[in-house]
Amino acid sequence: MKTSDYATLVAATGATLDRIAAEYTPAVFASSLAAEDMVLTHLILRAKLPIGIFTLETGRLHAETLGMLDRIKEKYGYQVTPYRPDSEAVDGWVKQNGLNAFYDSVHLRKECCRIRKVEPLQRALAGNRAWLTGQRRAQSTTRAELPVQEHDVAHGLEKFNPLADWSEDDVWQYIRANDVPYNPLHDKGYPSIGCEPCTRAIQPGEDVRAGRWWWENPESKECGLHVVDGKLVRIKVVAQNNSVEVTS
Ligand code: SF4
Repeated sequence: MKTSDYATLVAATGATLDRIAAEYTPAVFASSLAAEDMVLTHLILRAKLPIGIFTLETGRLHAETLGMLDRIKEKYGYQVTPYRPDSEAVDGWVKQNGLNAFYDSVHLRKECCRIRKVEPLQRALAGNRAWLTGQRRAQSTTRAELPVQEHDVAHGLEKFNPLADWSEDDVWQYIRANDVPYNPLHDKGYPSIGCEPCTRAIQPGEDVRAGRWWWENPESKECGLHVVDGKLVRIKVVAQNNSVEVTS
C-alpha cells in the first residue's frame, strides 16, 4: 500500500473509533492480544477513548499471550480486564470428557469453546451498546464479507471491526512505526494465536489461519461467538455448515 493510502487507512480507523466513543458508549473491545488487537489497543489508549478493553482468559492461553497483559500495563498503564470461564462448567467438561477432548470431535471442541469463550463473552458484553474486534477481511474465507460496522443480532448490540480493511502488511507497518508491543509468538510462525493446544505454528505459504484447529476441516474452524439459533449471521460459507465465527 502506498504511504498516502496507509495514512488514509489509519486516519479512517481513528475516525471510526472516535465515532464509536461519541455515539456508542458504553463500548468494549474484545482483544485476543494478537497483533491486530494490539494496533487497536494502541489507537484506543493513545487517544484516551472511553472504550473498555477485555480479553477472554480461557485458562488455556500461551504464557506469551498472558504476558501481553503485563506489557500493556507497562507501556500504557492500562489493565486489560480478563474474563474467565465458569470453573464448575470447565471442571464438569474436563471430568466427563478429558482435559484435551477437543481433539476428539468437532462437537466436543465447540462445547469447550462455548464454555471457555462464548459464555464469558456474553458476560463481558452485557450492558454495552457496542463491541469491537480486531478482525480483518483478509484473514480467512469466513471473514471475506466482514464489514466495519454491523448489527450483532446474537448479542443485541452494534459490532465494529475497525481493521476490516487492513492488510497484514498494514498491521505490521503500524506496529513498527509506533513501537507497539506484540506477542513474541508472531516471530515464531504464529500469525494467528488462540488457545495453546489449539494453535500451531505454520509453514511459509500456508494460510494464516491454518494453525488454528488444524485437525478439523476449514469449514468447521470457527468458535461460536456469532450464532443465532444455530445460524450464522452474515457469513454464508460458515452458515452452510451450521458453524460459527470467532474473535481471535
Ligand atoms: S480454542 Fe481449544 S482450548 Fe480454547 S476454548 Fe476452544 S477448544 Fe477449548
